[in-house]
Formats: sequence, structure tokens, C-alpha cells
Amino acid sequence: SIMPATLSAISSSARHGVLFKGGVHLENLSHIKAIAFDKTGTLTNGSPEVTDMYIDPLYNKEDVLAVIASIEQESNHPLAQAIVHYAVNRSNVTLQPVENMKNFSGQGVTAVVGEETWKIGNANFIGETAAEMFQDGAALRLASEGKTVVFAANEDRVIAIMALKDTVRAETKQAIKVLKDHGIYTVMLTGDNTKTAEAIAEESGIDQFVAECMPDKKVGELKKLKKRFKQIAMVGDGINDAPALAAANVGIAMGEGTDAALETADVVLMKNDLPRIAKAMKLSQRMNRVVK
Ligand code: ADP
Ligand code: MG
Repeated sequence: SIMPATLSAISSSARHGVLFKGGVHLENLSHIKAIAFDKTGTLTNGSPEVTDMYIDPLYNKEDVLAVIASIEQESNHPLAQAIVHYAVNRSNVTLQPVENMKNFSGQGVTAVVGEETWKIGNANFIGETAAEMFQDGAALRLASEGKTVVFAANEDRVIAIMALKDTVRAETKQAIKVLKDHGIYTVMLTGDNTKTAEAIAEESGIDQFVAECMPDKKVGELKKLKKRFKQIAMVGDGINDAPALAAANVGIAMGEGTDAALETADVVLMKNDLPRIAKAMKLSQRMNRVVK
């Protein structure tokens, strides 16, 4: 049966914007030694904007933008939405029919427009030429500014390189600092590349980051973290994050996250309010002392 102290702690946290789906999660939160965070939409606002766009001068700029926008229109990834927004605002794009759209979670998309197969996504997904472009020059510089670099290629070559900047939430740095001051080890997990991840991790003040982390790799990283710290939490917002939320001792979802994250999580931060995590931990520790 649920203890009155537990019930009162759950309702008190709910009033402060932290929803526990049961007393056991409040108890578990008090034992957490490390917290893993997703990057996009969790540490950052999750609304990236296109800041840079390079299109191969041998191609017509509007045609290329039209193809990219037509494909990304079919994806609900935040990067895709930002790219469509950029393209339709910037030029007279006429959206074209897209066939055989395939989504590769944490990597990018492929689709056929006209006769041609296109690939849009990160350097590893595009392949060797994009990976080489990433070793020096513009792509690397953009990434070290904390921007996500996305490549668009047809069957022959890379046709466009774009950069998107997502801002770190105003409260992230302080929220991470308070957790670290409580002795909590903090880690960022992201599908983004190492350079971009490094810049965002530094801006957030987080202890460690793991980049180029596909959804199943996120679960693998959590298992490693669990071995080391025994009791760990994961904070995320995306469909991608649901398996990792389930693998942690306490899964915490951002309130404006996707349904999959909200359903899988043990705890929901109703206002996307990261500083609430440390407050909820304090409350759970206090409650444990009362109950025991
Ligand atoms: P995160 O872990 O930061 O939330 P994701 O795992 O969703 O990021 O995606 C990882 C990377 O895959 C992105 O940084 C991007 O390079 C690429 N990507 C995924 N989906 C798309 C898409 N629809 N269009 C372009 N790039 C994409
Ligand atoms: Mg996310």
C-alpha cells in the first residue's frame, strides 16, 4: 500500500510540474548516481534553424532546394521541418512528388524524386565523400560552432551542405551545475556528430558526451553507465529515446516530448523544466528519510 508520505510527495511534486507515475519511481529517484540526457529537444530547445546552405554551383539552386524540401516535407524530424521552412521562405520552390521515402532513424532519409535517388542526412550516412568533406574545411568549422551539418547527395555526389543551429535551453547550464554539485554524474547522448556534440556539451557544462549514438547504441551506453553507477536516470523527448528511457532505472520525459517518450517514462517534467529534476531528487531523498 502507498504510504501517506509518498502520496503527499507525489501530489506536491505534481503541483510543481513533476509527474511521478508511481511511488516506486520517487523512491528510485532518491538513489540515482548518474543521469544521461538526450541532446536535441532535451538540453537544447529542439527547434533548429538553417544558418548556412552551400549548393553545388553546377546545379540550379532553386531546383536543388525544391528536391530537398519535397523529401524533408515527408519527414517529421525537427531538422527536416527546419529545412523545409528555410527552403519555402527563401525561394520559389515547387514541391515535387516523392517516391519510396525511407527513414533511417538517427541517420537521415532516402527518397526518389523524378528519376533520381537522393540521400539526406549526416556524413556517415551519406558515405565516403561526405566523410572526407568533414575532415577539414567548411563542414568541420560549422560543426565546431555547435551546428548540425546535413548533406544532400544524389547517386553521383554531394550536391548540398547545410548547417542547422539549435540553441541550448537557457536553464540547461544551471540545471546541470546543480546536479553536479549534488554529486550526480552527467552524460549527453546524441546521434549528432562528435564536433557538434563537443560544442554543445561544453556549452551545457556536462561531464561526458557520447556522439554518433544510434537509438540502439543509446541503450548500450545506458547499460555501461548502469554497470558503473548502479542507479541511473535518462532524460529524453523523442521517439528515439523511448528504448533508453525504458532501460534506465528512472526514465524522465520532457513534457512537450513525443507520445512515445511520455508513455515510456516513469516521470514527466510537465514544463520541459530541467531544474525540476534536482528539486524532485531532493524531495525524494527527504521523503525516504521520513518513510524509513
Ligand atoms: P539527436 O540524438 O541529436 O536527437 P537524431 O538521432 O534524431 O539526433 O539524428 C541524428 C542525426 O541524423 C542528425 O544530426 C542528422 O544529421 C541526421 N538526420 C536524422 N534524420 C534526418 C532528416 N530527416 N534529415 C536530415 N538529417 C537527418
Ligand atoms: Mg531529442
